[in-house]
Amino acid sequence: MSFPVALRHAVAAAFVALAAPTLTLAQGSSPLPADLSATVCNGCAEWNEPQRPFRVHGNTWYVGTRGLSAILVTSPNGHVLLDGGLPESAPLIAASIRALGFRLEDVKVLLNSHAHFDHAGGLAALQKASGADVVLHPWSAAVLRMGTSLPDDPQHGLYLPFPGVRANREVSDGEVVQLGSLAFTAHYTGGHTPGGTSWSWRSCDEGRCWDIVYADSQTPISEDGFRFTNSTRYPSGIADFERGHALLARMPCDVLLTPHPGFSTVFERLAEREAGDADAFREPTVCRGYAEWAKQRLAERLAKERVPE
Ligand SMILES: [Zn+2]
Repeated sequence: MSFPVALRHAVAAAFVALAAPTLTLAQGSSPLPADLSATVCNGCAEWNEPQRPFRVHGNTWYVGTRGLSAILVTSPNGHVLLDGGLPESAPLIAASIRALGFRLEDVKVLLNSHAHFDHAGGLAALQKASGADVVLHPWSAAVLRMGTSLPDDPQHGLYLPFPGVRANREVSDGEVVQLGSLAFTAHYTGGHTPGGTSWSWRSCDEGRCWDIVYADSQTPISEDGFRFTNSTRYPSGIADFERGHALLARMPCDVLLTPHPGFSTVFERLAEREAGDADAFREPTVCRGYAEWAKQRLAERLAKERVPE
């Protein structure tokens, strides 16, 4: 199968944006304080531009910013929120939840894709405001507990600190996190970080039930000097990526969402739907396409690493 043209273009653009060194530490690379008012990185201001919230399908809503996803899944017994963006994304996410008519206090569970500042940075503030439980991969839980990066993160040296969160619960691979009628399956899809987790659930709208996959970042990027092909720091990195690609390729998937919305052409699909295509978010081959794209990126990265310098 081939990746839809629009998706390929957007994914390529997003990848180019991320493939370049994106992080710039503040003056002298000294650690930034945890109570950042604005995270300093090349893409941060653009990532944090406000985005009007909208329904993806059924009880699944986009409440993130223009460049960083946050996904709300609602039920009469409480809501689940996936990812918190940057520390300064938290107030925008909270405002989006309220703008849709939901209460932040009804968010009972916070989930995370991976423990980097741009997807986990807002969790502390959102946890504080909602009182929700934080449910994480054990590796991510350790990162958030310590408030510092772990050396097996390929981007360890690029790490930007963010307010830590204590996980109330750690999830194992394949475990189902339940909140009333809501059920989220955790899929370990590491490589980008050792704790990378994709989440899947089902959303229905008047009897039309779609499998939604929030697939974690699959970009094989790192700080200078790190090699996936020869890493004592993260020796299972390649195997983790490959395992994740295989998983994503075979899981039931009608809708793909990703921590950076450009990787799943969220806004292009929104525009298509607003132009009249009611099923613009549904594409049953999309996760296979995403896995295939990720496989190619990994192959390119490994080939580059194997070229003798
Ligand atoms: Zn990341």
